[in-house]
Amino acid sequence: MGGQIPIVDYLVLDEPAHLRAHCCEKCRALYFDRRNACASCGSATFGWRDLANSGELRAYTIVHRASPKVPTPYVSVVVDLDGGGTVKANLVDVEPNPVAIEEVRRVELTTWVVDTDDDGVEAVAFGYRQKGVGQ
Ligand SMILES: [Zn+2]
Repeated sequence: MGGQIPIVDYLVLDEPAHLRAHCCEKCRALYFDRRNACASCGSATFGWRDLANSGELRAYTIVHRASPKVPTPYVSVVVDLDGGGTVKANLVDVEPNPVAIEEVRRVELTTWVVDTDDDGVEAVAFGYRQKGVGQ
């Protein structure tokens, strides 16, 4: 069978892969989860908006404890996307120490296959890496 599915609904596996958000049609606030009403203005009308694949690292933490099958340490970050939208994800292809992470300012979306089911369908996750590094 094959094919790929995104690990979260807001990851779109077009070429190029990108994130999309529910966008309040009144005040343009963005939400990854579905809302009955906008937390900013109360409007109940939303559309979809594709978000940029690049952005700026706002904050990070190095995670040392996780579920048994999750390798640690890893780097969890908050990214302010160019043109709007803020997303929490993992920063990959970086040493998990503050000296290395502090070097990273501009980041870009990256995706990878996390697992494959018995039908050959791949689950695809996303994260960020330093822009212009790797690949
Ligand atoms: Zn709104």
